[in-house]
Parts: sequence; C-alpha cells; structure tokens
Amino acid sequence: MEEGVKYSVMGSCPNGHITRSAIAVVVMDLPTARHTSQLAGHSAHIYCTVCQCYHRQTLGRVDHYNWEWRDDKAIRQHAEQWRDATTLKDRISIFDKCGTRYSELWWLPYWSPAHQLVTDPMHALFENLLPTHFRHILKLTSADAAAPKTPVPAFSHNFLTIDDNDPMPEGMNAKEVKQVCSIHKLRTESLKDEPNALLHKQLMGKNTEAIKFVCNDLNI
Ligand SMILES: [Zn+2]
Repeated sequence: MEEGVKYSVMGSCPNGHITRSAIAVVVMDLPTARHTSQLAGHSAHIYCTVCQCYHRQTLGRVDHYNWEWRDDKAIRQHAEQWRDATTLKDRISIFDKCGTRYSELWWLPYWSPAHQLVTDPMHALFENLLPTHFRHILKLTSADAAAPKTPVPAFSHNFLTIDDNDPMPEGMNAKEVKQVCSIHKLRTESLKDEPNALLHKQLMGKNTEAIKFVCNDLNI
C-alpha cells in the first residue's frame, strides 16, 4: 500500500502508472458510514463514533464539555480481536460489547474513525438540527405566524390571592372572589391598542369589593 497502486493502462500513460493516494475523510450518510467503518449503528447503545457517550438513554445529552473522544487505538484493538476471533459466538460477543467489527479501512495505519468519519451533515444538520431549531424553537412556521398571539404579561407581581380552600373574605361573595383573579390579570397584561380606555372600561365592570381587595393588597 505504501508503494502505491499500479494501473496497467491509463489515458495519459499507455504503459500504466503508479498512483499513491490517501483517505483524508470519509463522508457518507450515517447508516452507510457505519457499514463502511463496521462500527455499531446509530441506534445502538454505542451510538457515536466520535465520543464515548454510551447507552441510548443518554441521547440528547448537552453537557458537551464532559464528552470524551473515542480512543482509536482501542477501537483498532477490538476490530482486530473481532477479525481474529475463531467462532461466530466470539465475534457476536465482541460486537455486542465493543460495537466494532473489522473493516478494510484498518489496513490504513492512520485510520481514525473518530476524526475521519465525518458526521453526516445532510441528515444530522440540514434534516434534523436546523429544522428543529427553526420550526420548534424559533417557531418560524406558517402555522405559528397565523396563530393568535398570547399577550405576554407586562410585569409580574406577587398578588395576594384567595384560594378555593380559604374562607371567603368578609363582605365578598364568590363572584367577587373570581373577579380578584381577573383584575390581577388585567393589571399585568401588555397594553392593547387603546390601553387606557379599554382597561378603564374593563375595570369598571368589576364589583367594588373586588377592586377594594386588590387596592388594599397594593396599599393604594
Ligand atoms: Zn458523540
């Protein structure tokens, strides 16, 4: 291999030519990359060819500072153990434990799947990470654009509330207790088109006892 490969006839060299080449990176989609490298598939517990994250339950880990590189020497050792195993049972057991079979790529003394087996950008990036980010996190979709907007509260305050189990405050009825909650919501809501007129009208629809309860809570 170090001496190169001789092609007996080439267009530009009728007498053949020795070529020397090296594999810098292996770029292919994820399932094919695993077949080529003979490493366990992406749905196995040993799901990554780059880091040592282990077990499907750890999928979705985001503590990337704790991820450790896979050791190419160890993978090579497991691959060679698999190649040299004398029974099918031994090979199955090595694969189950180490997620590695032997690949012809191990002929290359410099082969490092952790560095040279490139993560498939088409599926990993363009079909998974980016759509998830834009559609589900940033919500940049037609459906989200057309959906009615929920007003974000303008501010929050730790209002004194009346729980269902609390005794009814003196002089108030059940309707007024419900109105207290509604007044809290109105007072923290974002301003609408005609803020003062609308808010005034909405507050004027509440009973005096409910308004007094909120005023006392706010010391106004
Ligand atoms: Zn990884």
